[in-house]
Amino acid sequence: MTFASLGLAPALLQALDSLGYKTPTPVQSQAIPAVLAGRDLMAAAQTGTGKTAAFALPMLQRLGASEEKVAANSIRALVLVPTRELAEQVHASFRHYGEHLPVSTYATYGGVSLNPQMMRLRRGVDILVATPGRLLDLFRQNALKFKQVQILVLDEADRMLDLGFAQELSAVFAALPKVRQTLLFSATFSDEIRSLAKGRLRDPLLIEVSPRNSTVKAVKQWVVTVDKKRKPELFLSLLKDRRWGQVLVFVKTRKGADQLVATLLAKQIKADAIHGDKPQASRQRALDSFKAGAVQILVATDVAARGLDIDDLPQVVNFDLPIVAEDYIHRIGRTGRAGASGEAISLVCADEAPLLAAIESLTKQTLSRDEEPGFEPEHRVPMTNGAGQLVKKPKKPKVPGGRASKGVPSNWVGFDEAPAKTGSRGKARPASGPKKARPGPR
Ligand code: AMP
Repeated sequence: MTFASLGLAPALLQALDSLGYKTPTPVQSQAIPAVLAGRDLMAAAQTGTGKTAAFALPMLQRLGASEEKVAANSIRALVLVPTRELAEQVHASFRHYGEHLPVSTYATYGGVSLNPQMMRLRRGVDILVATPGRLLDLFRQNALKFKQVQILVLDEADRMLDLGFAQELSAVFAALPKVRQTLLFSATFSDEIRSLAKGRLRDPLLIEVSPRNSTVKAVKQWVVTVDKKRKPELFLSLLKDRRWGQVLVFVKTRKGADQLVATLLAKQIKADAIHGDKPQASRQRALDSFKAGAVQILVATDVAARGLDIDDLPQVVNFDLPIVAEDYIHRIGRTGRAGASGEAISLVCADEAPLLAAIESLTKQTLSRDEEPGFEPEHRVPMTNGAGQLVKKPKKPKVPGGRASKGVPSNWVGFDEAPAKTGSRGKARPASGPKKARPGPR
């Protein structure tokens, strides 16, 4: 299969050729002809599958072929994305793919001043990529009119719901023309996604490029068990011994990100963090330096990292496991992209066993475990059974009538050290985890 056989115009083929895209990915070969034909789409495709080109290419072709001129403060297509970084990235993709087409594109998002965005919108824009909050700000201030919108894309729709954008999305739907083409992309089709789509998409073509909730196959995934306090040391040791180059490291909290960066910098390792407390300019700077190779280790929280597109990243490290198991899939989607192989290593301490169990249950696999010589954990990490549960230790507790009699496995070391859930995200601890556990006898 070639891009030409999908019906793409020469101007787009030329751009793809200079980007070195030779064959369409599965989501592209299914989506492109359907979008060109004007169909609505509901696609389960995670980052790394080539989903951006799957909607961007046919959109550029359709808008480029029409004679319609965009009016002042108007747009002809709207692409909604969850984060600023993804907005920039998707916008960059539109610019690359549309290089030889007379289609204007622009990105708006929060965290930067509103005025320049309002000024640019005065001239009208064919394709606007936006985060929901800023889009509504602009709309409510009359800087933006939706009358000409023909195409709506919801990119990473599941993530927008996770980030608490449900109301904003409803408000956008209410303001958009009813007759339009709607393309919804999501890593998974959860019940929330299905109800978001209900009544808002016209007979959509359903595309599922990888089995539901599966992780990217090209990524080799493994776990190193370790005590929590020794994680920084273990990370440094793995980095050195395995001669890792650039690594994207995920941590649970903003504070954790800053602490790890400080530890790395103290060892003369070039590192930077990307998290929600940082202004947009410094997040972008950190990302650009990482992409340029000036920063070796980029430490990120889940919210900030969503949508990062970094080519050929060989290693992703989960310094902390994510609280929401689905984030694991998003995280490891940063490696093994577009067919390249990658490695995702999770440093797991005893507290995190319930989170590990939830990830294994979601991804329907048992992750292989390793211990690094010199870092064998003192606090045993309970075994998991691949079905979201921890395997109980057969031994009786040393304290008679202790917690075993209350039904709490004796091998649990408190989950209560995990920080409280932050932000407006909808999901908390996995169902398999205890609400609270005390340190156990060892
Ligand atoms: P996405 O899933 O849209 O985030 O894309 C993942 C990465 O794959 C990006 O770096 C794209 O530039 C790249 N890519 C997308 N489609 C293709 C293709 N057909 N051939 C080669 N690379 C691609």
